[in-house]
Amino acid sequence: MKKIQMVDLKGQYEGIKTEVNEAISEILDTSAFINGPHVHAFQNELEEYLDVKHVIPCANGTDALQICMMGFGLQPGDEVITADFTFAATVEVIGLLNLTPVLVDVEPDTFNIDVTAIEKAITPKTKAIVPVHLFGQCANMDEIMSLADKHNLYVIEDNAQAIGGSYYSKDGKKQKAGTIGHVGATSFFPSKNLGCYGDGGAIFTNDDDLAHTIRGIVNHGMYKRYYHDVVGVNSRLDSIQAAVLRAKLPKLDFYNQKRWEAASKYSQAFKDQEHILVPKISCDFDTHENAFDCHVFHQYTLRILNGKRDGLVQHLNNNGVPSGVYYPVPLHRQKAYADERYNEDDFPVTNLLVKEVISLPMHTELDDEQIEFITHLVIDFVNK
Ligand SMILES: *Cc1c(COP(=O)(O)O)cnc(C)c1O
Repeated sequence: MKKIQMVDLKGQYEGIKTEVNEAISEILDTSAFINGPHVHAFQNELEEYLDVKHVIPCANGTDALQICMMGFGLQPGDEVITADFTFAATVEVIGLLNLTPVLVDVEPDTFNIDVTAIEKAITPKTKAIVPVHLFGQCANMDEIMSLADKHNLYVIEDNAQAIGGSYYSKDGKKQKAGTIGHVGATSFFPSKNLGCYGDGGAIFTNDDDLAHTIRGIVNHGMYKRYYHDVVGVNSRLDSIQAAVLRAKLPKLDFYNQKRWEAASKYSQAFKDQEHILVPKISCDFDTHENAFDCHVFHQYTLRILNGKRDGLVQHLNNNGVPSGVYYPVPLHRQKAYADERYNEDDFPVTNLLVKEVISLPMHTELDDEQIEFITHLVIDFVNK
């Protein structure tokens, strides 16, 4: 059996080696390292793939989130609601801009932000909601958008973990993750579903004015060369990363399908296990027959219900199987983001999830033998 890895970037590279190497050596030959033709071409290709009017590439996913918030002109003291159970980048940028983060609990089965908790947290100072499409599945965007409409709030989708996925609305509409809210932010960090070979990110929007504002912000606040109208940042996707992304974008659906297949095999093996909860797929397959992109499994995350999560991590590790705990500490208990406004009773689900979740190896190169080896180890250990 091949050595099991949490992500297998090398294996994936083998399949696109010729294209990537040719594109990179072309960039070396032309020395168009910044804003070269590949960046523009990638931008257009991603706009077409996502069916969105504007893609603005930038340096990483964290910048993308920050720039979205700058684009709306949010002011110190404005409140931004986001999930307690996510990667810290989401809340970090809120803090960096001197906005007030308001963390709320998540759902126990999808791990996504709880709409009831959002509604309870809205105050006259609330300006935006940042749903995170955690582990590859969209938050409840139907309800989030109607809540935002009602209270006049911006919705910034953190799509770092769900690129290529789709959201299926109750009314039958299908939209790509990240293009449903007023603006979406994504990351091309190497291990993401569409990863480059360094850092990269992008912002998506259908709003022409916002797109114009953001294109200036990413480029030092310049709308005309050497005229700085607003305080901006320097956040660029470089040409080499764009070339890698252009080679991978046509394969993204195939990559996500491979993830779906691996996840299905895992869930099939675990489905009757009383101590294991498999990830819930929210999409209704009766209304949407072929909705295999409603979850793109950035992570395949189980809940271990009998207190053996930490033991399982160790057991897998002893047997050469990597795993991850995303995330081990709720954001409201992180030193940087703790606040006396928070009450432990407001986060019953996150407080439980941090003790129960484990993410298994998930990538495009997993084979059946590896999946069987992993599932046997997990089942044996939790039932021991
Ligand atoms: C990876 C990630 C980010 C940040 O992306 P970077 O490109 O690493 O800055 C933000 N939010 C979530 C949910 C992520 O998973």
